[in-house]
Amino acid sequence: MEKIAVLTSGGDSPGMNAAIRAVVRKGIFHGLEVYGIYNGYHGLVNGNIAKLELGSVGDIIHRGGTMLRSARLPEFTDVEVQKKGIEQLKKLGIEGLIVIGGDGSYRGADALSKLGFPCIGVPGTIDNDIVGTELTIGFDTALNTAINAIDRIRDTASSHERTFVVEVMGRDAGDIALYSGLAGGAETILIPEENESIDHIIERLNRGKLRGKKHSIIVVAEGVMSGVELAEKLRERIDSDVRVSVLGHIQRGGTPTASDRVLASRLGARAVELLLEGKAGRAVGIVENKIVDNAFSDIIDQPHNIDRGIIQLSKELSI
Ligand code: ATP
Repeated sequence: MEKIAVLTSGGDSPGMNAAIRAVVRKGIFHGLEVYGIYNGYHGLVNGNIAKLELGSVGDIIHRGGTMLRSARLPEFTDVEVQKKGIEQLKKLGIEGLIVIGGDGSYRGADALSKLGFPCIGVPGTIDNDIVGTELTIGFDTALNTAINAIDRIRDTASSHERTFVVEVMGRDAGDIALYSGLAGGAETILIPEENESIDHIIERLNRGKLRGKKHSIIVVAEGVMSGVELAEKLRERIDSDVRVSVLGHIQRGGTPTASDRVLASRLGARAVELLLEGKAGRAVGIVENKIVDNAFSDIIDQPHNIDRGIIQLSKELSI
């Protein structure tokens, strides 16, 4: 193998740049030519591809977002469109592709691998919802962004004796809510993986009030319901000033944490090694601090496992 390419796809996440840098530098270290594909599968199909040098990835390790930009291309489910992408790669003599993204991006990479073009996936998403890895690139940064916000909200909540609902990202996976809620000392954490009734939330709030608590913080993952909707339900039932803060896209951006940069560097480098070893149709991940790899077929469409022990702990600590 002499030429490989890398793209980022789906939602961007902090640390994707560090992963791109690792792919490019590890590839060049092993004597490969490395190409960058701009705008995800859209750029692949349209031939938006350029050779990257050592310097092309200089001064990006600390930047959020992705220098290769990201895009969504719903038509990429069509096999003819996938074949067009492969043609673009073959035109340049590229023999392997590394896809940094989430579950949807993995499906695209799996399809290309099944058509005979070797692809390796690198988990890049703030949601931490990919099977086969304990962490995804960007999760730690998003978590820290959420915690910073919750800490600030706590200051104002206690000054005004308010109940604050903080809506964080997570349509299907509650990891950001669970871990930011635990680290931020939230009274209640609502995640898509668990059913918590409004009655139960009210009961907790009242219990806190009885023991003299002046404020409360409730963290809700967007997949459960919107923060605004939850606040409305609470206002009907409790005698407290309920305010809402929707963190939104600030969770996507920002300087990646040291953990995310190290993770991205390790995973990006391992992806290159796998291509050099002749592997295809696999995704890298981290389990118990060891870099692992799994077949796409074993991880795509598998239910994301949230840590039940952490859910239980968060409940025990917020009685
Ligand atoms: P995030 O977790 O941030 O949402 P993602 O990678 O899951 O990231 P998606 O929008 O689901 O984001 O997928 C990104 C792109 O991957 C899609 O726009 C499409 O081009 C491609 N893709 C998704 N599903 C498939 C599929 N079944 N077959 C081929 N390509 C797909």
